[in-house]
Amino acid sequence: MHPVVTAAARLAILRGPMAQIIDGKAVAAQVRSEVAKAARELAGRGIVPGLTVVRVGDDPASAVYVRGKRKDSEEVGFRSVEHHLGVTTTQIELMELVAQLNADPAVHGILVQLPLPKGLDERAVLEAIDPRKDADGFHPYNVGALSIGIPGPRPCTPAGIMRLLKTAGCDPRGKRALVIGRSNIVGKPMAMMLLEAHATVTVAHSRTTDLPAEVGRADILVAAIGKTELVKGTWVKEGAVVIDVGMNRLQGGKLVGDVEYAAAAQRARAITPVPGGVGPMTRAMLLVNTLELARAAHLPAT
Ligand code: NAD
Repeated sequence: MHPVVTAAARLAILRGPMAQIIDGKAVAAQVRSEVAKAARELAGRGIVPGLTVVRVGDDPASAVYVRGKRKDSEEVGFRSVEHHLGVTTTQIELMELVAQLNADPAVHGILVQLPLPKGLDERAVLEAIDPRKDADGFHPYNVGALSIGIPGPRPCTPAGIMRLLKTAGCDPRGKRALVIGRSNIVGKPMAMMLLEAHATVTVAHSRTTDLPAEVGRADILVAAIGKTELVKGTWVKEGAVVIDVGMNRLQGGKLVGDVEYAAAAQRARAITPVPGGVGPMTRAMLLVNTLELARAAHLPAT
């Protein structure tokens, strides 16, 4: 089935985008080169940041994600290790592996690729990771640390978005920010980070009654819903900065976001494309987290 193309979207396609396109691929490349430089400096002091990824079972998407994460880590000079466990792995075996990685001084960042196969308790596994090695920033300690402003690893997708906003010259201070979606990995930490950056933050979700009105008030819009072009371009406030986290695969394989891109680009000051916006940043910020965890493990706080 083809998505419905509204008249506004058709007109927008004809006119072409007006907004600055925020090039996540280019910003991610910049972040990787900064991390590589910092890793070379650490290597000069005998410290090689180590990222260990744990993958359980044979989920094809997880295999692709893990391959990408390992490639990135190797390219910036990290030590990259993968533990690939079979689908019949027990909770005890998985917890034992995490305990072993927690105790290994060469491991600075641990990432357990989600989702885990049925029958394994994700929450127990995430809680077992030493918060000082929590490369994804999902441990409850680090979630709390974000909410009260203690430094530490931050969830990669919202951390990458903060960097994109900076690149687009958008300082959230005093702005009205709307985050659509309240997931633990994107929506909630995003709201906390925007709040920390002094935005006035609203979080919308599936029970929000008037989404168009909320969108219409937002100077910064972050859409993390997972529904093809749910946010219509005509809802977007003139001059807003639009960050589209959504990754929705259409029949035929095309990837589209949660925002009606062409029409939104007519009204926004800046907008992220899908693909090539938020996605590359998520991967890049994992490297930043691992680097910072390695630094914190070896170098006294400055
Ligand atoms: P999720 O399914 O956990 O959460 C979706 C949220 O959208 C929920 O909080 C829900 O309340 C809200 N929602 C659903 N329908 C809504 C509606 N009609 N109006 C308003 N809100 C509504 O999803 P998630 O894990 O946060 O991911 C969201 C999207 O972002 C997905 O497409 C996912 O693939 C994508 N994603 C991309 C990256 C990246 O790196 N680019 C990273 C993580 C997630």
